[in-house]
Amino acid sequence: MANLLSLTQQFRQLYRKVFPIPCLLCGLPTEEHALCQGCINELPLIKQHCLRCAIPLASGHICGQCLKKPPVQDISLSLYRYEQTVPRMMSALKYHRQVQIADLCAREFIKQHSLNSLPEVLIPIPLHTSRLRQRGYNQSLLFAEKLAALLNISCQPNLLKRIKKTANQTQLNAKQRHKNMRHAFQYLSEFVPEHVAIIDDVMTSGATTHEAARELKRAGVKIIEVWTIARAISHY
Ligand SMILES: [Zn+2]
Ligand SMILES: [Zn+2]
Repeated sequence: MANLLSLTQQFRQLYRKVFPIPCLLCGLPTEEHALCQGCINELPLIKQHCLRCAIPLASGHICGQCLKKPPVQDISLSLYRYEQTVPRMMSALKYHRQVQIADLCAREFIKQHSLNSLPEVLIPIPLHTSRLRQRGYNQSLLFAEKLAALLNISCQPNLLKRIKKTANQTQLNAKQRHKNMRHAFQYLSEFVPEHVAIIDDVMTSGATTHEAARELKRAGVKIIEVWTIARAISHY
């Protein structure tokens, strides 16, 4: 069996040498991932951040906004600032089904954060059925599934349902985004875990994750974390 595995591995390496995957950002050949190592190294990692909303901070642990008005979630973790090459990488995941991006980001996310007490369940932000039909897949579910597999915890995409078809948020300011997302989700199950992490691709105003967290809290979840790939530098 071991021999067979290493043979498969060798064959894959050889195949990748002959037919390399071009890096999504710069076009150079990559052997394993969607991005070359150079582009991965240049992604803007969030080093110090607010523990409640994941916004990058120069110093301290909680940002001024969260001190004044704490968000529903207890902890927020994100991986990259939503700037430089990150928007391009995220749209490759969101619109072109680049599963390897979800894979790479899940691995980097785990490397970057010391996850001590793990949530019981990961809940990806659901898409409305009409959006899901249009796009064919949910990018947050791809990321959540990779994380769940690496951390050996459960990913449950059916606990939370998007019951409201919300307008595209790109043209809206933070206040409008919150109004747009009001009552967008419904918790569907009798089973209520104690500790969950909501998984989303990008956190901008935080309106989406805020509304999902509110619904989870209403259902009885005690500890809520929000894990995202990228954090835009604007506040909720
Ligand atoms: Zn590259
Ligand atoms: Zn904050």
